[in-house]
Amino acid sequence: MKLFQIYLWVFVLFCTYPALCIAQQPSRDYTNAVLWQQRSGEYRALCFQAYNAARFSLDQKLKRVDSRPKAVIVDIDETVLDNSPSSGEDILRNRSFSLDEWKRWTGLAQADTVPGAPSFLKYAASVGLEVFYVSNRDPSEMDATIKNLRYFDLPDADTAHILLRSDVSNKERRRNLVSETHEVLLLVGDNLSDFSTVFYQEGKETFDEVNRLGFLFGVSFIVLPNPMYGDWEQELYEGKRNLTDEEKAEMRKKKIIGF
Ligand SMILES: [Mg+2]
Repeated sequence: MKLFQIYLWVFVLFCTYPALCIAQQPSRDYTNAVLWQQRSGEYRALCFQAYNAARFSLDQKLKRVDSRPKAVIVDIDETVLDNSPSSGEDILRNRSFSLDEWKRWTGLAQADTVPGAPSFLKYAASVGLEVFYVSNRDPSEMDATIKNLRYFDLPDADTAHILLRSDVSNKERRRNLVSETHEVLLLVGDNLSDFSTVFYQEGKETFDEVNRLGFLFGVSFIVLPNPMYGDWEQELYEGKRNLTDEEKAEMRKKKIIGF
């Protein structure tokens, strides 16, 4: 068979069975999101902006007299550590997100820091705050997480201060645990669930809640940009679970606002 005929058959095969073409695509179409995080100066500038606001706000809050020990609560992923190489690797290998691959990445303990995070956390420690890391990483990722944070000499990188997901992903209970003994001055995260449960609560509209609590952002709630993933995606799928990659892609497209 001539080479031309082989090409022709491959072309016919893929046009006849579009699913074959779709199967070659990563399930989450986020190439631009990963590139923006890895390559744009704007991403870095926004991170510095967030941590500059955090430091400014911290200085203001420290002027208040309160005898309780003080703390700042930070999320880890896309707040302190940059995991975009994990998403990038998924794209390069045309695969969907999987927990096994995620753990393989975190197990390397090689994530870089989010711009501005190390200097802010070290500053917070230098003025007497304890840092608590409230993350939904699995407890099996604890050792590698400590190793990764310690590589950058980040304060309080120990099991007493790193509160990983025990049974529920809801972070409220872990935040309350810190609040029992400390005055929490700031919450820092890339996901609205890092600040309060109200944003993704049944019966509440996320936009309404963000509007209602808008005055807290940049003051008590410090938000880092994360274009790659987050709880916001679940609303695209209207609470439906077990959707195929193709069904997810279809629903995402339906949510786009045009004119
Ligand atoms: Mg996060």
